[in-house]
Amino acid sequence: MLKPGSTIGILGGGQLGRMLAIEGARLGYRCVGFAPEGDNVAAPVCDDFFTNDWSDKPALAAFAAQCEAITLEFENVPLAVMDALPSDRLFPPRKALEVAQDRLAEKRFVADLGGRPAPHAAVDSRADLDAAMERIGTPGILKTRGEGYDGKGQWRLRDVRDADGVGTISQPAIYEGFVSFEAEFSVILVRGQDGAIRFWDSSRNIHEDGILNASVLPAGEAVETQVEEARALSRQVADALKYVGVLTLEFFATKDGPVFNEMAPRVHNSGHWTIEGAATSQFANHMRAVAGLPLGVTDTIAPQIRMENLIGAEANTAHALLSEPDLHLHLYGKAKARDGRKMGHVTRITRA
Ligand code: AMP
Repeated sequence: MLKPGSTIGILGGGQLGRMLAIEGARLGYRCVGFAPEGDNVAAPVCDDFFTNDWSDKPALAAFAAQCEAITLEFENVPLAVMDALPSDRLFPPRKALEVAQDRLAEKRFVADLGGRPAPHAAVDSRADLDAAMERIGTPGILKTRGEGYDGKGQWRLRDVRDADGVGTISQPAIYEGFVSFEAEFSVILVRGQDGAIRFWDSSRNIHEDGILNASVLPAGEAVETQVEEARALSRQVADALKYVGVLTLEFFATKDGPVFNEMAPRVHNSGHWTIEGAATSQFANHMRAVAGLPLGVTDTIAPQIRMENLIGAEANTAHALLSEPDLHLHLYGKAKARDGRKMGHVTRITRA
């Protein structure tokens, strides 16, 4: 159990780190961030921030020397960085990143535990893609195995003719059959250092162009009837990884049950509603887990909740939304409102 005043390191400098650092401060901890040059919106709310390349070993050593525990807000932290940090102070463990950084490894890991991913095949060449489309069928999605997020590094292929538009396959990829789903949802759990697990309610997640647009509670019947099975699998994944902190697994609710899509070894955009909508938020419980503190209850505290992302220029006029009394606004302080960039979010809570 970390004493008040202890230091928690956060790898990555985006909005998730910003919201984690705010909760760290509430618990009386110092938070120190580390990320390469960029729009590191976590930096202004951290006590200290290292703006250094991931390959900068002396900077990593100086960062680690300050930290009683280290966590992350970004799953693509290079594994070499994880190796350079003290493993007994690293939450979640390296293995969780190793699995989550590769869409193929992730699907295999979950399938080995009894989960059901979308039909898929590894694609390293055009010939592999043709064979995969032949075997799995169309429509489908070609995704890079690593580095993809918010629909980036993905090509939707309606039929074999679309394969010509993909160009040369220059990095390891995966072809997935398109899953016909009724709804999308995520299981968000927190696992403490003692192995205790708590789940938040699952919201229905609405995506547009591969990017999360809204998370809604109650999630509706299609999701609610499948949550239990998805939770059982997620618990197994967390236990198998000896996971500590918040872990997210995304699912498609299909007529044949939950189909696993992907996992994120971190707090998740679809859990932002928990800040105002749950007894303890994903950010607060993540920091509790990392610090070795008891976990807080995760109950939903309102009958209807809707979280919407503010994408691109939408954020510029967001203050006007505050005329709605039950609306909670979060702006991340990003410098440039590029198209498709998550600039903030709002959560609407209906109490009665
Ligand atoms: P991902 O980055 O893999 O989570 O993909 C982003 C979004 O694209 C998902 O949330 C879905 O809305 C959609 N998507 C991804 N993979 C599939 C699939 N195999 N079948 C249907 N929709 C998909």
